[in-house]
Amino acid sequence: MNTTEIKATTEEYVLHTYNRFPIVLEKGEGVCLYDTDEKKYLDFAAGIAVFALGYHYPGFDEALKAQIDNVIHTSNLYYNVPLADAAEKLVKSTGMSKAFFTNSGAEAIEGAVKAARKYAFERDGIADHEIIAMNHSFHGRTIGALSVTGNSHYQDPFRPLMGGVKFADFNDIDSVKAAITDKTCAIIMETVQGEGGIHPADKEFLQAVRAICDEKDIILILDEIQCGMGRTGSLWAWQQYGVEPDIMTTAKALGCGVPVGAFVLNDKAAQHSLKPGDHGTTYGGNPLAMAAVSVVFDLFNANDIVGQAEKVGSYLAAKLDEITAKHACVKEHRGMGLMRGLELTAEVPVGDIVTKARDMGLLVISAGGNVLRLVPPLVISEADVDACVEILDKCLP
Ligand SMILES: *Cc1c(COP(=O)(O)O)cnc(C)c1O
Repeated sequence: MNTTEIKATTEEYVLHTYNRFPIVLEKGEGVCLYDTDEKKYLDFAAGIAVFALGYHYPGFDEALKAQIDNVIHTSNLYYNVPLADAAEKLVKSTGMSKAFFTNSGAEAIEGAVKAARKYAFERDGIADHEIIAMNHSFHGRTIGALSVTGNSHYQDPFRPLMGGVKFADFNDIDSVKAAITDKTCAIIMETVQGEGGIHPADKEFLQAVRAICDEKDIILILDEIQCGMGRTGSLWAWQQYGVEPDIMTTAKALGCGVPVGAFVLNDKAAQHSLKPGDHGTTYGGNPLAMAAVSVVFDLFNANDIVGQAEKVGSYLAAKLDEITAKHACVKEHRGMGLMRGLELTAEVPVGDIVTKARDMGLLVISAGGNVLRLVPPLVISEADVDACVEILDKCLP
């Protein structure tokens, strides 16, 4: 199939839920992708914050190939080697207690919500609990995850959603307090809002939420699906806040391209929530996916990927501050580490900039509120940052 045929065949047979960019990406190398016309792109999208290690990082493919030669799938009816390895590495990286592996971010959110409800049910002996989520949040597209996603455009066609969800304003502790009732069992938020436009939680806000959760025995769920795995300059973003969640969700970069997610519970949540029979998944904890998670942690540790992200993240931040000062159409620069957003004025639609950048060989994406989102592989160099910023400088009016 040539490029035109690939696009036409895709549109003919794949349900049209995405307006795809008009390129066909065929292979990746390092921090670059190549399309079917052999055009090269510097990748500051990383498959939406997935490819933390870039493409073909030494050791990654080899580990997957070795696992394929052993066994790809066995089911959760049996023990398997990579599951034990991956779970130990993930749990130890958080200082928490137990992990449950899923196939996606949304599925991790579903599990976290169920665990929080079960915790409150075990404690109170009744169900009917409430969850507080944040406006402009994003937690996924399944009905449960959508129910805690504070975006009516995504929610409205699918009502009625899961009940018992109230929304508060991110970084506004009074609005959270106002939403709390005796029925509140959980507060869920991203540590850094991603799709909503790259908004980090304020330290005082997250600490105050943690304090209320402690006081009222409410489960704090931090969604680190996008901001976790080193992206903000610490392995988990919450590690920069002096708070710990009761339940954390992860996915995206967890498998660096292999579809996998997880929710991780602290001892309290693990001991008093989901029990045998309460939750399950056929593929979750699958040996191939677990081999990916396991080698990702090994490579992160061996090569100080998080330290690298922190360092290059500061460099990128300084460059973006310059861009912000230079171009009047950039209202604000926000972010942490290698999770960055440039909010543009309404006169400059972010989609136009994304297109211009792509034509010039740079892949970037957008986020809510007219924000240009930069979520490159964590292994980019300062020279890659220079190349990216040079193109942005030319694209922005
Ligand atoms: C992407 C994302 C999700 C959903 O993950 P999927 O794997 O697409 O289901 C949930 N929460 C956050 C913060 C995300 O960025």
